[in-house]
Amino acid sequence: MTKRIAIFGSTGSIGTQALEVIAAHQDKFSVEVLTAHHNHELLIEQSLQFNPNCVVIVDETKYLLVKEALSKTDTKVFAGEKALEEVAGLDCYDMMLAAIVGFAGLKPTLKAIESGKPIALANKETLVVAGELVMEKAIEKRVPVIPVDSEHSAIFQCLIGEGRNNIEKIILTASGGPFLGRKPNYLVNVKKEHALQHPNWEMGAKISIDSATLMNKGLEMIEAKWLFNLHPDQIQVIVHPQSIIHSMVQFADGSIKSQMGLPDMRLPIQYALSFPQRIPSSFPRYDFKKPHTLTFEEPDIRTFRNLGLAIEALKKGGNWPCILNAANEIAVYAFLRNRIGFLDMTAVVEETLTKIPFIEKPTLDEYFESDGAARAYTASIIRM
Ligand code: NAD
Ligand code: MG
Repeated sequence: MTKRIAIFGSTGSIGTQALEVIAAHQDKFSVEVLTAHHNHELLIEQSLQFNPNCVVIVDETKYLLVKEALSKTDTKVFAGEKALEEVAGLDCYDMMLAAIVGFAGLKPTLKAIESGKPIALANKETLVVAGELVMEKAIEKRVPVIPVDSEHSAIFQCLIGEGRNNIEKIILTASGGPFLGRKPNYLVNVKKEHALQHPNWEMGAKISIDSATLMNKGLEMIEAKWLFNLHPDQIQVIVHPQSIIHSMVQFADGSIKSQMGLPDMRLPIQYALSFPQRIPSSFPRYDFKKPHTLTFEEPDIRTFRNLGLAIEALKKGGNWPCILNAANEIAVYAFLRNRIGFLDMTAVVEETLTKIPFIEKPTLDEYFESDGAARAYTASIIRM
């Protein structure tokens, strides 16, 4: 019996790497659902290779192209945003890989949890925006949420076998991104081409920019709070530019466990898909015989103010992380379109946080309202 996987966001960086993992282990996994936003060509190619039960193309103008290309196969074709949720509620798969980027991943992931489907979670924004509701639902439905984000996968792996042993703190490692050591007078002029060049990881555009601003690490602190049920004070960030230690857990006795390896997202993806088993891989191995230095330093929150803003949102809770995320999504897309500068991204997020009414314990509808209001406000100050 193979585990039937639904990949939401199959045309992205995580989605395509997941398909590589699955292609290497066809005795263990099959692909039942693939979804894409615009990239119908890649979706068609993936469908012809993996022969899924169904596919969703969110961009409805591409529906006929996909339908026509798959007309000689058994694959059912759906289109539109609503179809994502509908397909997430189908019975044809065993596990969802949530690999859509941004807030758009929330609804289908929630639907999968409501349908009792285990989640391999790459889409950190789901937990940033509505972590409390999502984890409550997962507990209610007894649905495992297995992290794919490399830091959270590391922590998850460190916690195996620890039962109820108290965590003193977790230490999230950050590469520091392409602008490590730089100061605002340099950052003010950087362009997207430079910001997209991550030293250690090849990722989608949004997370690459978030890594350059350190917003990614802030989002990951919030993600960790919900995944591992931690108090904000128990979450520390340390810059480790080599990205060999993927994160650490320090226990009540002071002992520290880490998970290590070369930076390769296929590893945490495969682990989440095969958990609790570890299955073989041919990924390159870390070689201790080669001269390497592993270094650690404090993040520069004064320069990379996004991390400070995210920590404030982490501590304040309520709809603040949701507002932070929405404003950041708009800011990142504006930066990618050369509409605003690198440091402006922080300024517009900061301003949006002060303008949208705070709600201490939002309902799901209120999260959607806060997200919409924050997006509209940020777009208005950028004049998009
Ligand atoms: P990406 O931009 O490469 O891919 C995003 C995928 O989501 C694509 O398949 C795209 O079609 C789909 N998508 C985009 N907007 C959509 C929308 N509005 N509705 C439906 N589908 C939409 O992104 P990625 O780098 O693969 O990242 C995916 C998620 O995984 C993000 O949340 C990111 O933070 C997280 N993540 C990525 C990495 C990485 O190495 N890439 C590492 C850790 C976590
Ligand atoms: Mg990460």
